[in-house]
Amino acid sequence: MATLGNPTNTIEVLQKYHFNFQKKYGQNFLIDSNILENIIAAADINKEDCVLEIGPGIGTMTQYLCENAREVVAVEIDKKLIPILEQDTLAAYDNITIINEDILKVDINTLVQEKNNGRPIKVVANLPYYITTPIIMGLFESHVPLESITIMVQKEVAERMQVGPGTKDYGALSLAVQYYAKPQVKLTVPANCFMPRPNVDSAVIKLTRHKEPPVRVSDEKLMFDIIRASFNQRRKTLVNGLNNAAGLNIKKEDVLSALEKMGLPPAIRGEALTLEQFALLTDQLRKA
Ligand code: SAM
Repeated sequence: MATLGNPTNTIEVLQKYHFNFQKKYGQNFLIDSNILENIIAAADINKEDCVLEIGPGIGTMTQYLCENAREVVAVEIDKKLIPILEQDTLAAYDNITIINEDILKVDINTLVQEKNNGRPIKVVANLPYYITTPIIMGLFESHVPLESITIMVQKEVAERMQVGPGTKDYGALSLAVQYYAKPQVKLTVPANCFMPRPNVDSAVIKLTRHKEPPVRVSDEKLMFDIIRASFNQRRKTLVNGLNNAAGLNIKKEDVLSALEKMGLPPAIRGEALTLEQFALLTDQLRKA
């Protein structure tokens, strides 16, 4: 078994199996052992943990996870990688389950029930950036028992997840992430730590799930519909944005009266509201 996390052994494995990188699966493999150790430390993995790794690739981070966790489940979409993982890079470990599937099609709640008796798991992932948001939101919204998600994202996306009102990066993703979890950027990862090199720099962000959401709201779904509608038309006032939103059926006068009750100016934009204010607004509009 080759120890991965360096260019020499990575190239050796890739050549041995005549592996061709698939762009559509966002395959950029980590080749820096320092970064890998830092990710394991950031995710705070220990021998009690059951870890779900999404997108193990040739098993680079998986080796580190198997060394440090009690049990690891790795879900990989590319069937060409499965023999490499099973017969080679992870063959020495008895605490790994490899599943060849698209993570978006896996019933993760059932998996957590089977593997960890329904107790919270830790998720670690280095994924194609275009599926990062659906995966994170899917995990939170389907109430999978989880303690934290430690995930490699594009540097700008990490920024967007942790900012508050009044910045250009603040948006629906910031509010959704912060409703469910506490975001902390743990490290930045330059493009030369991957093979092949991506075009952007990355960052590892840890999302530690809140035990209780930081705000109370009478209708979670309505709040997120309102948030999305407010940021869809960023340049409009909140009153016009919500009034134009298809499917929401919110009247201008109701928004104006809610804003007045909350002591907010009638021409305010959605991007100026905090999570708490979106929750209050939702409660007011629901009553109306
Ligand atoms: N974890 C490895 C590493 O750090 O070197 C590989 C990371 S690579 C950026 C992303 C991996 O996710 C690839 O192996 C890719 O095939 C896999 N992947 C892409 N889409 C996936 C999906 N929908 N479900 C499961 N795995 C996926």
